[in-house]
Order: sequence, then C-alpha cells, then structure tokens
Amino acid sequence: MTERAAENTGLTALIVEDDQAVCDLLRRIVESQGYTVVVCPTAASAKAAFAASFPHLVLMDWMLPDMDGLELSKTFRASERGKYLTILMISGKDSPDDIATAIAAGVNYFMAKPVERRVLDIWLSAAAQQVRDCLQREEDDLALAAMQKELVDNNLQLEEALSRANALAMEAEQAYIEINQIFKTVAGGIILVDKHCNLLRSNDSFLKMAGVTREKSQNRKCYEIFHSCICETEACPLQQIKKGEKRVEREIERVSRNGQNVHYSIVSTPFKGPSGDLIGIVEHIIDITERVKAEKSLAESERRYKELSLVDELTKLFNKRYFNTHLQLEVERANRHGHPLSLLLLDIDNFKHHNDTYGHADGDRVLARLGQVIAESLRVNDVPCRYGGEEFTIILPETNGEQATVVAERVRARFAGEIFQPTPQDTVRKTVSIGVTQYRAGESGQSLLERADQNMYEAKQRGKNQYVLK
Ligand code: GH3
Ligand code: MG
Ligand code: MG
Repeated sequence: MTERAAENTGLTALIVEDDQAVCDLLRRIVESQGYTVVVCPTAASAKAAFAASFPHLVLMDWMLPDMDGLELSKTFRASERGKYLTILMISGKDSPDDIATAIAAGVNYFMAKPVERRVLDIWLSAAAQQVRDCLQREEDDLALAAMQKELVDNNLQLEEALSRANALAMEAEQAYIEINQIFKTVAGGIILVDKHCNLLRSNDSFLKMAGVTREKSQNRKCYEIFHSCICETEACPLQQIKKGEKRVEREIERVSRNGQNVHYSIVSTPFKGPSGDLIGIVEHIIDITERVKAEKSLAESERRYKELSLVDELTKLFNKRYFNTHLQLEVERANRHGHPLSLLLLDIDNFKHHNDTYGHADGDRVLARLGQVIAESLRVNDVPCRYGGEEFTIILPETNGEQATVVAERVRARFAGEIFQPTPQDTVRKTVSIGVTQYRAGESGQSLLERADQNMYEAKQRGKNQYVLK
C-alpha cells in the first residue's frame, strides 16, 4: 500500500515496537498524517529518543523486550513535558481489565493488535485533536508561567522599593528626632533661614533672645525678628555664604526690648539639601554680653594700672611721674636737714642716627642696656629714672657735686665700654652726655633740673661723651 506524501505538521511521533513488521506499518501510517517519526525497538532507546526529541505523540507496545510498556508510559508521564503528551497503546493484551490498567498507567488511547488500518486511522484522528489540545495547553501554560514570573518579579521590586521607602522614612524620623534634640539642648539660639531671609525654624532660646512668641515668629524674615546693624548689608552672613563662604563669624551689639545693650556672637554655616544645593543658613547665636563686659573692664584696669605704675617697662627704672614726686621729697628733705643733694641728667649721643640706621627696635635694646648699666652703677639710696625718650635722671641724696661726678664718670665709662651688635657685621658703641649739678638751698626742684639740663647741653657742645658739673 502506498501512502500520500503528507504535509509536514511540525509534530513528532515516537513509535516503540519490537516487531519490525508492525513497526513499518505504523511508521507509514503515522508519517502519512504529517508526523516526523522516530522508531525505537526497546524501552531504553525510547527513553533516550524521548529526551532528545520531545515527541507529541507516542505509539507503544505493552510487551517490550527490556521493560513493561506501562512502566515506560509512567516514566514518560512523570517527565517535564509528560502532561502534554498523547499516548496510544497498541497491544495484544486487550481484556477490559488490561485496558483499564493501561489507562491508569497514563495511556490515552488503546488499540488491540493485530493493527487494523481503519481502526488505527480512527484512533489517530482522535489523537490528533488531543495533540493539538495539548499543544494549546502547553502554550497557555507557558504564557501563564511567564505572566506569573513577571508578577513575582514585579512584586519583588515593589517589596524592595517599599522596604527602601520604609528605611528612608525611619532615617528621616530619626534625623527629625535628633534635630529636635539639638534645637532643645544646644546652648544659645539656633535658627534655620532660607536664601530669602525667611525664618524656617528656631529654638526657644532664640525666641527668648529676640523677645517674640513662636506664633509671632511664623512666616517672618529673620531681620524683622532679630534686627542688627549688619542686617541687609554686605556683612550679613547669608550674603557672605551665598557668595561661597563656608563659615561666617560675627559679633554684634543690639539693644534688647528692655533697652539694654546686648552683645552676641553669631556663627553661620551653609544649610544644604540632600543634593548639596544651598537652601539657606544655620545660625548659632550666643549671648556674650558678660564676656564683652569682662574684657572691657580688664582693658580698663590694665590702662589704669599702667597709669598708676611707677616703673618704666623698657628700662625697668623709675618713670617720670615717680621722678617728679621723688625729686620734690628729696628737695624738701635737703632743705630740712641741710644735707647735700645732686642730680644727673643723661642723654644718649646721636641716638636718632642709631634709630635711623638700625631701626627703632634696636634703639630700644640700647635704651634697655643703659637702664641696666645705670642700675648696676648706683647705691641703694640713689634714684635712677627714665625721664623720657633717651633722657635719664639720677637723684643722688646725701651727695655733693664732686661726689656726683664720680657716679657720672662711672656710668659714662661703663656705657661707653658696652658693645652693641645691631647686625651680624656691625659692632657699635654708644655714649652719653651728662649734666651734673648740686642742689642750692632754697631753690626748687624744677630749677635744679633746668641747671642739670643746661650742663648736659654744654657737655654736648663740648663734644659729647662727657659730663659737665656747674
Ligand atoms: P644728640 O646727640 O644731640 O642727643 O642727638 P640725638 O640724635 O640723640 O638727639 P635727638 O633729640 O635728635 O633724637 C633723639 C632720638 O631718640 C629721637 C627719638 O626717635 C629717639 N627716641 C626717643 N624715645 C625713644 C624710645 O623709646 N625708643 C627708641 N628706640 N628711640 C627713642
Ligand atoms: Mg635728647
Ligand atoms: Mg640724644
């Protein structure tokens, strides 16, 4: 019998039959239905072919040389594509019990041997419908599985997004709690101000400083609530930070509501959003009135201390104030007891030139050294003073003019022997001219001083580095 060449359906059939003649017959008929046919004589080869070609239709014998056909049917059914498979069993065992057993083992259709062409055609066309149904079911199942997978993926993504959102919300809440804590516990006032001077947030300390209630501070500009001389000027910290400053520190003075002058230190830093863009500034404001008061009173007491001081800082000798008072006392004493009293007035020679050549600081070193030389050349009752600039006086109680010249000469000679080194390559010697004079009974201290000055001037006239007694 010749068969019509069938149109290829793309379907595959597996024939498991050890009888060659039956096999050939089945192959011909099945191929004529458009199937690509694979033929296996044993269960073992059928398993391998099944795994390799995933057939849509299986025609199988019950009695196989290496296995019970029903076991093979169960194996096929248990496989991954088993539920989309159509199985037709062709067997000589065809009692109703046999057929029931075969159906229970997963067989769809049962046909008794010997193979009869017309019966086979009937079963094959029934099986063809079943194969098509299976294909459709498989397609539907695949589409469903893909949809389910997509659904699961979407759910997973949703869950992840939700848990991220939850974590962010928790972080935000934590940050909010921390900021509240900082606002409450920080010493001094703290405010957040946006780029347009709007007061976004403030703590109670700030409101107390500004003297406003929280309600009154709502929707207000910072300069309306806490105005100072730097508001709306170039010195405003917000303007500075907008120009790129990272930290601005200011000290301001402000008249408080009760009319008192209050000093504040304000430290301002940028207030940035999550992406780093400038939202405004954070200002930390501390009342430093007490500190400023303490500083002022310290400066005042320093000034008064200097005023009251009797000692010249540079030379460590008595200053002019002390000299004036003490000279008066010594003059009175000399008059009272009729004891001698002398005065020396010293002036450094060519000192301006030294200052001009080596600088004022080096000039100061010369002055300090002369102070030392004088102090080391005197007795305890003598009173050495820096009269002013580069002029010195020495009050010599109980000393007549002749004796005073001994002191004058000692100071002159010792100072002239001092070597100064204003630069590594220069050595310099300095000298003094000294006016010496003895007190004349009844005259004033001022007249004694003037005479000493005239004598000193004469010493200069005579060529400096000497004393003159008159
Ligand atoms: P003469 O020999 O005639 O005294 O000349 P002189 O340059 O010493 O006198 P003059 O009065 O022209 O200059 C005195 C200089 O002393 C000028 C002044 O700058 C300097 N002088 C005054 N007080 C100080 C001081 O405290 N430190 C220093 N380094 N220089 C001083
Ligand atoms: Mg002088
Ligand atoms: Mg001089």
